[in-house]
Amino acid sequence: MSDASERSGSGTTIGFVGLGIMGSPMAANLAAAGYRVLGYDVSAERVEQLVTAGGMAAPNIAAAAKAQIVITMLPDSPQVEEVVLGPGGVLENAVDGALLIDMSTIRPETSRAVAERAAVQGVRALDAPVSGGEKGAIDGVLSIMVGGDEAAFAAALPVLKVLGTTVVHVGASGAGQTVKAANQLVVAGTYALVAEAIVLLEASGVDASAGLDVLAGGLAGSRILELKRQSMVERRFAPGFRIDLHHKDMGIALAAAREADVALPVTGLVAQLVAAARGQGYGGQDHSVLLKVLENVSGRATT
Ligand code: NAD
Repeated sequence: MSDASERSGSGTTIGFVGLGIMGSPMAANLAAAGYRVLGYDVSAERVEQLVTAGGMAAPNIAAAAKAQIVITMLPDSPQVEEVVLGPGGVLENAVDGALLIDMSTIRPETSRAVAERAAVQGVRALDAPVSGGEKGAIDGVLSIMVGGDEAAFAAALPVLKVLGTTVVHVGASGAGQTVKAANQLVVAGTYALVAEAIVLLEASGVDASAGLDVLAGGLAGSRILELKRQSMVERRFAPGFRIDLHHKDMGIALAAAREADVALPVTGLVAQLVAAARGQGYGGQDHSVLLKVLENVSGRATT
């Protein structure tokens, strides 16, 4: 969080499950804002990091779930189903009237199923996936797209405002995930085209850094060009956002398109490039590694 004086938490307890690349700084920002953050992750190292950042360790999901507000930030639908719906999970241990905010990127239908099951137990559930990457999480400037009940959104807003600067209620349960799917297809498509621009510039003997500086200042400019052009030109691909997760998100986007009965041909092509990145062994690297795939397509692998 940018301003430590904005301590809005006033001791409210938040259970936080999933302290990875995103969850870890998000939970730390909530602790810095004055919330009592009770964190759990299958990785004990991640839990220790939260304790160092001012949070508290929960020994298991059940302990983290006994809070008025519970946030989950997990990789994919199966983990959310296990943590929220499974035995010993969040719903089994939730307090009456609790607010569950799932900030993972998962399938819209999973978010709807979670909200329905939660309602049966008197728990209000929101899907609230985020955009802005690790840096956005660290700086507390994420974009957050929220699906679910209006009153639940209003209750969650003070917490979400600690984590992000653009926080929008986009519709009923699952709508947040559909907006996130749209976000992810734009992000992957942009990376693919920036990668192609670098391949073209370098193959033509033009300084790619200088060329991309110009692109970033014109109509082609984007947050991706702003934040990632230098690391791409320098071939630095430490995540960030892993190809494996973006592969999952392209699957969500294509399934959502099928559900909505529309064709997204460019998304289909970009999804294949992301799949190729996995196939070429880049699954654990940052999604900007699409550059390596497009170099390989032209037989111009650099290292
Ligand atoms: P990550 O893999 O770094 O973190 C996920 C964490 O969940 C890990 O620490 C893992 O140990 C933990 N976990 C997995 N299963 C668990 C379980 N059953 N119980 C408790 N903990 C469990 O992933 P991330 O990059 O932090 O992404 C989290 C979500 O946010 C994903 O859905 C991703 O698509 C989305 N997202 C990521 C970014 C990004 O830039 N990394 C940006 C926006 C959205």
